[in-house]
Amino acid sequence: MFSWIPKIRRLLAVMALSPLTLAAMAAPEEPAPAAATPSHHEHLHAQVRQAHLNRLRERMMSTPEALHAQCRFESDIATPPPAGLVALTFDDGPDPERTEQILSVLERYDIPATFFFIGEKMQKYPELVRKVLASKRHVIASHSWSHPNFHDLGVEAQNSEITKGLEQMPEDLDVKIYRYPFGNSTCNGNDLLHAKGYRIVGWHVDSCDWAFDRSGTVALHEAVSCGVAVQFRSDFVGHVASAVRERHGGIVLMHEIHANTLAHLNEVIEAIRKDGFTFTRVDDPRLATSLR
Ligand SMILES: [Zn+2]
Repeated sequence: MFSWIPKIRRLLAVMALSPLTLAAMAAPEEPAPAAATPSHHEHLHAQVRQAHLNRLRERMMSTPEALHAQCRFESDIATPPPAGLVALTFDDGPDPERTEQILSVLERYDIPATFFFIGEKMQKYPELVRKVLASKRHVIASHSWSHPNFHDLGVEAQNSEITKGLEQMPEDLDVKIYRYPFGNSTCNGNDLLHAKGYRIVGWHVDSCDWAFDRSGTVALHEAVSCGVAVQFRSDFVGHVASAVRERHGGIVLMHEIHANTLAHLNEVIEAIRKDGFTFTRVDDPRLATSLR
């Protein structure tokens, strides 16, 4: 179940970093002095970066049993995916700059995908939600109301985030699916989602697209925290294709809000297809065992 621990330790050894160094790097950062107001994308990018480092630190410092008892960090799917299938997932939309462009790439390759939408953005951009639904090709899933870190929220706030997010969901979904922001699950959230008939899903493969965002290269500590091998630190497409091959397919985590993802989406699709995988959606019955 915790197969990532030896993998992270191997990576650390290759990079000559100790878990303690990593834990120190992952310590919460002092808030930066107020500069110009960061864009929504930049703000979210910084949050994802910090969440990844915090997750790495907690994994290094806690026992798997303790994390399990708190229902934390369940987003890395432990069970193997059905062979030969890949489900691309796009989080954090709908996005006025990218959703439609992602839709056209998917249409060009005639492949389906799953969109994990943030409730308040669905309310803000209903026309984009309608476009995704009108394609009849893709599935929409919930990704909370406003994308908070559930590990920082009390029970009431968690419940409200879930409930308000679900209120935005289309009514005729065959399979109701939820993904926690940052993959940060809680026992309380799990119980509420299951009571509302939702299945929770993480990912088999992290594209680490958030880490490649700026110059197309991943910083060393982010490469470690996301599991990007040394040879792919400047090769987003190579990382995704190799990670998919290594897991024999499965659910792939990507984001609408990072420019790099859209810029290389066609190459990612072509590389995965060349390796013989077939694309599907997260609500495919063959992926049922990958949902919680
Ligand atoms: Zn997200």
